[in-house]
Amino acid sequence: MNTEELRQMAQHLRLVAVDMVYKGKDGHPGPALSIADIVTTLFFDKMDIRPEDPEWEDRDRFILSKGHACPIYYAALAEKGYFGGRVEDFKLRSLGSRFQGHPVMNKTSGVDMTSGSLGNGLAIASGMAIAGKYNGKDYNVYVITGDGELQEGVCWEGINIAASHKLDNMIAFVDRNGWQSGGSVEDVIGSNNIKDRFEAFQWDVQEIDGHDIDAIREAVDKAKAVKGKPHVIICDCVKGKGVSYMENDNAWHKGVPTDEQYALAVKELGGVI
Ligand SMILES: [Mg+2]
Repeated sequence: MNTEELRQMAQHLRLVAVDMVYKGKDGHPGPALSIADIVTTLFFDKMDIRPEDPEWEDRDRFILSKGHACPIYYAALAEKGYFGGRVEDFKLRSLGSRFQGHPVMNKTSGVDMTSGSLGNGLAIASGMAIAGKYNGKDYNVYVITGDGELQEGVCWEGINIAASHKLDNMIAFVDRNGWQSGGSVEDVIGSNNIKDRFEAFQWDVQEIDGHDIDAIREAVDKAKAVKGKPHVIICDCVKGKGVSYMENDNAWHKGVPTDEQYALAVKELGGVI
């Protein structure tokens, strides 16, 4: 896909994500829209994966550590073909549905790791990356974490392990949207110094615009070229990106659009589901 096609795909996935929250009458649209461009670029440009063989042992791995953002993950998996065709109603967060409010690896094709209990993704990704090196595999492990999530202490255990094992087959994205469930990151924890802290742990660090598809692609290529260190791409993102009334309004961390709001979101995201 070229840049414009990826941009259009990201908008489509946003639309599917909002639709699934609307129909499911529950979910986290703001965090999902924030990472739409990162997820799209990974699933439709960068990751070597086989939807027809989701357990393929040489596949690139993906962990959505901020698991509550899963509507965009489910949308990407569906569009990629993991569920054998179009999903009309995901029944998000419904009892018995494959599409729970947080990803479940044994329930949903294409999900490499259960997540949602915040903080675990970086440590688990480190384990997957160590296993890859130990087994002589050349797959990469991608993980998306949040700027709020980084307050979980276990994140820093994983970050430490990744550096000590020189896991250059691991690429982490930080969704730096400035918000977390309880308010602004600045109010909750103060200045987060994410870049400085990763650098102190001897990571390869980049900072980009998390909604610039070309910047995301280039950052992944640059990361892969740096050997001997794990990589983090800190992405400046807008929570709720793409739907005017959701952007930077933390009320949409978790919430369901009214009929009128849903209609406006569909219009702003380009029309037809
Ligand atoms: Mg955040």
